[in-house]
Parts: sequence; structure tokens; C-alpha cells
Amino acid sequence: MVVVIKISFSWAAVLAVMIALAGCRQEGEVSVRLPAYDPLADDYKLTDVEITTLDDLDRLDGQTTTLVGGAQIVLDYQKNEIDWKEAGAYVAFGGIKSDGVLIPEDFDSLAMASAYYGLELSMLFFEDIGMPRDLLVHMETYYWPDLKIIEADGEEIDMRDNAFYMYIAQNDRGFYIFPYEDFQWLPLSMNAGVMTHEYTHAVFDALVHDPNRGVALAAMTISGANFLYGLNEGCADSMAVARTGDPDYMEHSIEKEVYVVQCNTAIREIVRDASEEWYYSPAIDSAARLQPAADFCPYDVGAFFASLLYSLARDIDDAGPGPDDIPSVEARLEVATTLFGALDDLGLSLKTDFELYDMFSLLIARLSTQAKKDAFCALLESRYAMHYDLVEGC
Ligand SMILES: [Zn+2]
Repeated sequence: MVVVIKISFSWAAVLAVMIALAGCRQEGEVSVRLPAYDPLADDYKLTDVEITTLDDLDRLDGQTTTLVGGAQIVLDYQKNEIDWKEAGAYVAFGGIKSDGVLIPEDFDSLAMASAYYGLELSMLFFEDIGMPRDLLVHMETYYWPDLKIIEADGEEIDMRDNAFYMYIAQNDRGFYIFPYEDFQWLPLSMNAGVMTHEYTHAVFDALVHDPNRGVALAAMTISGANFLYGLNEGCADSMAVARTGDPDYMEHSIEKEVYVVQCNTAIREIVRDASEEWYYSPAIDSAARLQPAADFCPYDVGAFFASLLYSLARDIDDAGPGPDDIPSVEARLEVATTLFGALDDLGLSLKTDFELYDMFSLLIARLSTQAKKDAFCALLESRYAMHYDLVEGC
């Protein structure tokens, strides 16, 4: 996500989204002309792609997600409640068929089909690296919902230029894609990395949070909760980069050196580049240990983690560096598979005083050869020197 809002309270009132089931079903593979990432050009180009998991093309409803338009939501931090003024309804995709390929006929159709496609690619990628299809509940994707946030101090914000995943209840989780206002480059819904980033939050939620909901999660120490939040962002970026091979995937949507207030606390650059070497620092460490969850910004820990795993993929890459030093698909898949397994392990062993070195120990245990473990230990010794002695297996 680009600009995060924190969901850290229990919902006082949640109205379920009711969607009438009706209408025709169109199943199977569909060819659609959408912007797709081209690694060689490091750019997005209109490409004829196959969408394979749709049950109903007209409504963009399928096994990956169901698009929902027109929702109106008020998130009130003064009352600690979420109020669905309008639950929303099925969207209508419009496309014109040309030589067997559907060309979206308006901007919304292009953006919505892109969102579905980006999430489908993410789902298939996770299935490739070991995710069982029933890990995630079926989720809605709220397209351009009208979300008003009432802050604790009474300030009202209309959410724009953002996309996020949100957990509300066991069977009520979803993706939210907001209107574009300031950022007029590639819309977030068409950015493959952004969609995989958000999808990874849903996977992280299922693997790490779900087994610990109400127990360890409620009792986390300040540092434990902050490191876990940072890890969540780091995994989301790592998986986005691993799937796309695009280490600064946000740059297609938001210029480098664009600074906004993030986490209500600090002005920060939005674009993070996993191909840069990020070092764990005393500043990152003390922020995670001292700042209350409401003020903690997870992106420094996240950028450090994503950069570390990107370097690992480079270091274990038998194929050698590809164009622009991007690790091969095989090396990226191996790191993603290792990370997915380690997150599964973390969900079963999460401690209330979680530390990043717990995660590194799990990753090392999951790496398949001693040479790969050695490569990761060498990276940690250099970039995580502060707590390197607490990593098990190095
Ligand atoms: Zn995020």
C-alpha cells in the first residue's frame, strides 16, 4: 500500500456486504487487452493477456475476487466503528471484441479488469510457491469506494490515491482501490506490483495473524507488534518484486522523490527500491522499540527486509545476473517459496516479543542448501550487524 491507515481496534458495527446472486455466467479463459509489465523495457505496455479464473466476465466476478462498485464507507476513529452507508453492487465491465480479444471500452472497465488480472496473477503465483487455494476466503475488491475517515482529532479525510487490503472479520476481508487524484501516472489498479503487494498482505494475514488472532496478537509487546508490522510490509514488497522482477514497481505509478505524510507522523518518499542496499540502523531499531503502534511507520523495516531478500535472490542465482542485474525467475521463485514457508512457520511459532531475527532464523532453516544459508548469513552479517549474533543457523 502506498499510504497506510491503521486498523487496530475491534469493529463496533459492521454491515455485511449483500450482493444479490443473479445473472448469466461466462466461464473460462478470456483474452483482454490490458497494460502489462514488460521487464525488458521496464515499462507497461498494452498486451493481450489471458484471464483464466472468471466466472462472470460482465461483473468481473470469479475465483480470485469479485469487483464491487459504489460502496460508501465511513471509518470513524472517534467512535471506533466502520459504517457502511452503501454496501455497493456488482460492477459492469464493457468491452468490444476484436479478433477474439476484448478491448475495454472505458477507463473504469480497463482499470477494473486490470485489478482483477493483477490479483489473479498474484493468486496463481502464490499457488506456484505452495499456497493451498483454500488458504484465503473469497474476497471482494472495492473499486473506487467513497471512504471518509474521521480521525481521532475530528479531522475528516476522503481517501484518494491509495490501495489497501483490510481485514474486518473472519469472512469479511477485501481489497480497496481508491480514486486517483494527485498521481496521474499508471493507476494503482493497473500496477502489477501494487496488486501483488496487497494480495501478499491477505496471505500474511492468513498465515501469520489468523493462527494468533485474539491470543499472541492481542498480547504483543510494542517492539513485537512494530517488527511484525514492518515484516508485513517487507514481505508484501518482496513478493511484489519476486513476482514481477520489478524492484521499484511503484515508480510506474508515483514519481521518485515524491514525499507525502505517511503514518500520520513523517514526510517520506513513497517509492521504495529493493535493488538499493538498505542497512538496518540504530534509528530503525529504536523507532521499532520505542514508538507506540499508532505512530510507528513500518516502511523502513519493510524496505530493509525487501532489499535483503532481493540481494539474496541475486546471490543464489545460478543463472547469473540478467538485464539490469535482475535475478532470474528461478532465483526469485526460490526466495518466494522460502519466504512463504517461513511465514507459515512463523504463524505457528509467533512470540509476543517477536524480533526480526526470529524471522531470519526461520528463513535460514528453510533455505535448501548450506551454500544458500551461507549466502544469507553473509548478507545479514553485513546489513544486520546489530543483532546478527542472535540469528540462529549462522
Ligand atoms: Zn502494504
